[in-house]
Amino acid sequence: MAGERKATRKKIVATEDMKQYMADYYYELDHAAKTGDAKVAWCSSVGPAEILRALGFLVYFPETHSAMLGATRMATELIAHANALGYAPEICSYLTADIGAYTQGVTPLSQAYPGIESVPRPDVLVFNTNQCRDVQDWFAWYARKFNAPIVGIHTHRGVGDVTESHVSSIAKQMEEMIGPLEKISGHPFDMNELERVVGLSRECSDLWKKVLDTAAASPSPLTFFDGTTLMGPAVVGRGTQRAVDFYRVLLSELEDRVKNGVGAVEGERLRLYWEGMPIWGRLRAHSDLFAEHRACVLASTYCNSWIFSALEAKDPFRSMARAYTELFIVRSDEAKEKYIREMIDFYRIDGVVFHDARTCPNNSNCRYGMPQRLEADAGVPSLTINGDLNDLRCLSDEQTNTSIEAFIEQLEEQKG
Ligand code: SF4
Repeated sequence: MAGERKATRKKIVATEDMKQYMADYYYELDHAAKTGDAKVAWCSSVGPAEILRALGFLVYFPETHSAMLGATRMATELIAHANALGYAPEICSYLTADIGAYTQGVTPLSQAYPGIESVPRPDVLVFNTNQCRDVQDWFAWYARKFNAPIVGIHTHRGVGDVTESHVSSIAKQMEEMIGPLEKISGHPFDMNELERVVGLSRECSDLWKKVLDTAAASPSPLTFFDGTTLMGPAVVGRGTQRAVDFYRVLLSELEDRVKNGVGAVEGERLRLYWEGMPIWGRLRAHSDLFAEHRACVLASTYCNSWIFSALEAKDPFRSMARAYTELFIVRSDEAKEKYIREMIDFYRIDGVVFHDARTCPNNSNCRYGMPQRLEADAGVPSLTINGDLNDLRCLSDEQTNTSIEAFIEQLEEQKG
C-alpha cells in the first residue's frame, strides 16, 4: 500500500504546560476535598461550570476522570463492578467504568499524581442533560453515596434552530439554581463575578476555536489525537485566566508551525474528520496507524464541542443558555449534517471516520443514515468503525485496522 512507513509525529511543546495545568488542577481539588478549604462541585462536561466558579466552587468533571480510566486501559475490567450493581453493560461506559472504579477504591489519579488517593468528595453535583440522560443517573449514584445534594438542568433534545423559547426556558432553570447553590457554597451570588467568569470562558473558547482552526492549514499542525488531550484546560478550566494563558501559548506554537509549513503528520496526503467519541484506550495506536499512512485525522466534532461562541459576559444567563443549547449533541440530525458539511468544506476533508460507540448512542451519529446522506450530498466517503469510548470488549483491533487501511487505500486511489 502506498505511503506505508513508520509513524512520525511531531510533539507539541505546549503539551508539557498542559500536563502541569492538569496536575495543579487535580492537586488543588484534592487539597480542597481533604481540608475543606474550598467547596467542590461536580459538573457534567458541558454543564454550567461558569455559575459554579462564580460561586467560589472548585469544579470537578467526572467525565475527564473516566476518560483517564479509558486512556489508562483500566476501564474495561472495572465496568463489570458497576454491572453487578445493576448498571447495564449497554449504558455509558464512562458511567460504568467510573462507578466501578469507585467501588474498587482505584483511580488513575493516584498513578499520575502521587498523594491523590481518591476522586474529590462532592459538596454538590450539577448536571445538564444536554449531552444525555446518563450523566444524571451517574451523578445520582454519587449523590446517594455521598449523601450530597444534586441539581440539574433538563434541556431540550433534537433542537433544529435554537429559538427564544429554548433560550429563555434554559436561562430560567439556570437562574433558579443560584439560590440552592448559594446556600451550599456559602458565597453570596455576585453578578459582576459571573460576568467576569463568563467573559473568561468566552475568551478560552475563542482561543480553543483558533487552535482547532489552525488545522485548516495544509499540512495541518495538529491532529484530532493531539486535540483530545490538549482540550483538557478548555474542559476543566474554562472560566479561568490560566486556561486562557495556556491557549495563547499553544496557539502561538501552532501558528508558528503553520507559518513554517510544519505538519503534525509528516508528508500529509489525506485529510480526515473524526465523528464520534475517541476510543481512549487506542488513542496512541490509532494516531500511529493513521500517521503511518500519511493520513492526518485533523478535526472532529468531539474537540469542537468545547467551543461556546455564544457566551457573552454582559448577558451571562441567556448567553450560557444559548451556548449550551447550540451544542452539536443537542441538535437535530438536519442541524448536525449541516454542521459536518461546513466542517468538511472548512478543513478540506477527504473522508470521514464515524465511530459507532456501543455505549454512547448520543455521540454516535452513524445509526440513522447520516454517513450515506453526507456521501450522497457532499460527495465525501466515510468509514464506520464499531467500538466504544471505554469498553475495549466492543472493539476488534484487527477488524478496525483492516477497515481503516482499506479506507485509506480507497481514498488514495480516488485522489490519484
Ligand atoms: S454523552 Fe455519551 S459518553 Fe458522555 S456521558 Fe453521555 S452517554 Fe456517556
